[in-house]
Amino acid sequence: MPAKEAPISLESAGDLLKKAGLRKTVARVHLLQCLASQTGPRTQAEINADLEPHGFDSSTIFRGLTDLTSSGLVVRLDTGDRIWRFELHDRTSDGDRTERHHPHVVCVECGTLWCLPTDTIERFSDKIPGWQISDLLLRGTCKACAQKT
Ligand SMILES: [Zn+2]
Ligand SMILES: [Zn+2]
Repeated sequence: MPAKEAPISLESAGDLLKKAGLRKTVARVHLLQCLASQTGPRTQAEINADLEPHGFDSSTIFRGLTDLTSSGLVVRLDTGDRIWRFELHDRTSDGDRTERHHPHVVCVECGTLWCLPTDTIERFSDKIPGWQISDLLLRGTCKACAQKT
């Protein structure tokens, strides 16, 4: 299981937005904190369920996610099932965005997405000479689905 990200304080959420050139809004701060408080990528439906009790409607949440994604703070993952999933872009301890984001493995049965270590990409790159691999998506069957069959 991926390491749980450290929760983002109000100040560091503000810093991240500032570095990304975004104005600090309550919705953006809530979104960053919501995404930092969980272990893997989340769908917009899951994010809505978290933030709607705080008074944000789904269009505000969608706009916020779009802003955070285009600024590079958040990564939007598309695994081909037409459901986007969102997570924070990998950061260095200084809060800067890392050049490359970690890759994922997706369960073809239930769509669950797991985070893989960043160096997984390096290990593949060695086997494909001359290529610069920027992203990697593995497909498989997760433990829970494998046990059902
Ligand atoms: Zn599964
Ligand atoms: Zn991930």
